[in-house]
Amino acid sequence: MILANKKVCKFGGTSMADADSIKDVEDIVKSDPTRVFIVVSAPGKRFKDDEKITDLLYKAYDTKSDCKAFSAVFGKIKARYDEIIKDLGVALDLKDIYAEIEREIKASDAPYYSASRGEYLSALILAKYLNFNFLDTKEIIKFDGEKNFDSEKTNVLAAKALSKLENAVIPGFYGSDEKNRIVTFSRGGSDVTGSIIARAANACVYENWTDVDGFLTADPRIVKNPRLIDVLSYKELRELSYMGASVLHHEAIFPVKKAGIPINVKNTFDKTKVGTFIRPAAQIEHGDRVITGIAGKKGYSVINIEKSLLNNEIGFVRKVLSVLEKYNISFEHMPTGIDTLSIVLADSEFKIPSQKLLQEISNAVTPDIIGVSTGLSLIAVVGHGMAHKTGTATKIFTALSDENVNIKMIDQGSSELNIIVAVDTVDYEKAINAIYKSFIGRE
Ligand code: ASP
Repeated sequence: MILANKKVCKFGGTSMADADSIKDVEDIVKSDPTRVFIVVSAPGKRFKDDEKITDLLYKAYDTKSDCKAFSAVFGKIKARYDEIIKDLGVALDLKDIYAEIEREIKASDAPYYSASRGEYLSALILAKYLNFNFLDTKEIIKFDGEKNFDSEKTNVLAAKALSKLENAVIPGFYGSDEKNRIVTFSRGGSDVTGSIIARAANACVYENWTDVDGFLTADPRIVKNPRLIDVLSYKELRELSYMGASVLHHEAIFPVKKAGIPINVKNTFDKTKVGTFIRPAAQIEHGDRVITGIAGKKGYSVINIEKSLLNNEIGFVRKVLSVLEKYNISFEHMPTGIDTLSIVLADSEFKIPSQKLLQEISNAVTPDIIGVSTGLSLIAVVGHGMAHKTGTATKIFTALSDENVNIKMIDQGSSELNIIVAVDTVDYEKAINAIYKSFIGRE
């Protein structure tokens, strides 16, 4: 039977954590015959101090030359899967597969293969349990020699493989390069796999099943009971997830965006909730919603450069940026004034000591003053509703000044989709609460 309205479902680490949660997955899949392509993560945490299988697999790689340490870690991994198999009552003996994985980890010279085996084993077990086909992403998700994801080659291979299958369980997180060596996405990358599969299958929706009700308007660790976002655009999602809203991997939208397929984030443990829909902006009624959500991240610094008549100096910015390029440093924002230029960087991007970096920039552009301010956090206020509307920035600044929060930097994207402010990290929580209260609500 060929279904016109196929759904792709991705289940995250908590949904795959043990037999009980896998039975919830089964209920969800079996309750809707259009849920045919199922992408899975490796088992995640069952309780607060539990270990994620992927973390254990990275540890296994790190200890591969220390026999005792490796056996201890690998033993934990095997025990976890064996328990799942036993509790599900699946007739599957992984002994030979474990032996092969152990051999391959020891022979490998990068952690990718090891890290990928969590998803691989998860998918093998779920395929057997649901009586679905198993489709290995090693064959269909392709990376080039530099480990860059090759989206178009992948789409052709994946579409061809999926067209031959009525159903499949598919491991998330990895693919392979042109020499067929395993390569993984960055952490949380099974979300990207789900999106790739949804595009290739031409699915009517990409359901991303996780352990929360959907996207919240702010981080619940900072704002008490923040409201759920019922619908947001691909672009809003990208901004929010890049800036720290951790429900979805920040690259997960790209494949589905190309095909205009909506994402529906849903809670495996409360399936009755509608969750959050992510759609093209043109399909969203904004009503009087000005901002969609607030997100933020700690750990930033700003390099401030001042030079008289900087605005007349052709090539000034290029010279500064070529120093960053030399050290492979990526920057976040670059607000400019007539005689000033600021560069906002994540602290992790200081790949050389900051004094050395300032010296190199000084040598390149001979500024009057150069310095660095540390201990900053960035807050993104995101929403299509702010476009062509006056007063959004004023409202943000008023909310912050009422709470005595000093704004260190302001940046507004040209699409009027977001306003980013930098504040001292000590003011971070206070600032997010102030903006939330002013735009979204009190509780
Ligand atoms: N298991 C991988 C991780 O923990 C990928 C994923 O779950 O999306 O990052």
